[in-house]
Amino acid sequence: MELESVVCNLYGASRLRPRYQKRGHLTGWMFTIVQCRCCGLVFVNPRLPEEHIKGLYDKAYFDGQGFDPYISLEEEAQKIAGVTRVPERISAVKLPPADVLEAGPGGGHFLRLAKERGFSAVGLELSNYAGNRLRQQALHILQGTIARAGIPDHAYDVIVAVEVIEHLPDPRTFFMEVARVLRPGDHFYYETGDIDCEQAREQGADWDYIRPEGHLYYFSPRTLARYLRETGFRVCYPLWFNPSRRIVSLLRQVGLVKGAEPCFQGRSGALARRLLAPGTGFLRGARTRWRCDRPGTPDEQTHADSQARVSRRDGHRDGPVAGVDLRRGGPCVE
Ligand SMILES: [Zn+2]
Repeated sequence: MELESVVCNLYGASRLRPRYQKRGHLTGWMFTIVQCRCCGLVFVNPRLPEEHIKGLYDKAYFDGQGFDPYISLEEEAQKIAGVTRVPERISAVKLPPADVLEAGPGGGHFLRLAKERGFSAVGLELSNYAGNRLRQQALHILQGTIARAGIPDHAYDVIVAVEVIEHLPDPRTFFMEVARVLRPGDHFYYETGDIDCEQAREQGADWDYIRPEGHLYYFSPRTLARYLRETGFRVCYPLWFNPSRRIVSLLRQVGLVKGAEPCFQGRSGALARRLLAPGTGFLRGARTRWRCDRPGTPDEQTHADSQARVSRRDGHRDGPVAGVDLRRGGPCVE
């Protein structure tokens, strides 16, 4: 099998510098993890061919015998520990019976909890094996990718993707599809690793999250903010994201953060965001305008077109909203 070379998924640039080398757990092959010199995105290149990537998510994978040996343990641990973090956060932005779609529902832990809370919860599963297993548990599962599962525009109030976006061969298309199927002003909630976190920087290629057969992208707050803005989102800063809850409560007292609103949105939120930006390092990156210095290939032309389209949509005040929750450190159970 030959590995497949790709360009940067954010804008199509191909000036890349190698950052790490790491052996895949499943194949035993050595992979290179590169960083785009233009936008800073970190990803595996070259990588397993797309057809092969789809085949990674079989029974063996969900039993912990694929590229990530901890996958089955993590799901089990969440069940045993009764982890309700995600449904609680979703309930903070939307009340049941909102329409919730979870991409990559794994063992179905979130879908079951969301159903119990009265949400209309649907899963979207690429893997036939996982899809069938979830259907046997009486869960509503769509099969395929978000672009090919026949989902109409503006069909959902919340889209959830926990530990999913790092697996996608084409995150840009996924984010654009999420923006398409969300109702205006509604929410995209995700969790993924943070390649800029302390643990990642200290451990380099040894960081446990780097599993180059299946974890294809390693985002940072900065690269994710760029992606989301380019694909039509307004990025909001949920209260749980900010490390300094004292500042938040102070802002609430003086009326800059309203009631139980979980995100800093609108005009009052703008000042709150500005005040909190130095603490998170998040807005600074997001504000930087980025230009690709390599225009010209057909691929980049397509990217430029879609950019223009989404940036117009971005101008609308009621565009979809992405909630940010980057995990600090490796996979963990709260
Ligand atoms: Zn790039």
